[in-house]
Amino acid sequence: MPGQGRRTAPLPKGWPRIRARILRRDGHVCQWRVATGGICGEPANQVDHKVNAASGVDDHSDANLWALCKWHHDQKTGREASAVAHARPSRARPAEAHPGLLP
Ligand SMILES: [Zn+2]
Repeated sequence: MPGQGRRTAPLPKGWPRIRARILRRDGHVCQWRVATGGICGEPANQVDHKVNAASGVDDHSDANLWALCKWHHDQKTGREASAVAHARPSRARPAEAHPGLLP
């Protein structure tokens, strides 16, 4: 049977334990960096891969995992999905000089 269109790599064995450990390490606080500096700080109940398996990296080490709140996790997941969707080569059209601008 060909793949069933699975989009994410399977989680490693013992994931619930890894997940609990990361949440504890990060104090159950969202680690998302906000533009003003510092972190989001909302209560976190998600553990996210900083570098997603979809980008060819399968890194379940603590260094690649962080706690995120649901909102930021959804934001990031959405951005990754649209980055994939927009990964098509873009056909750049050369800018044309407007004939009306010629002397
Ligand atoms: Zn957050």
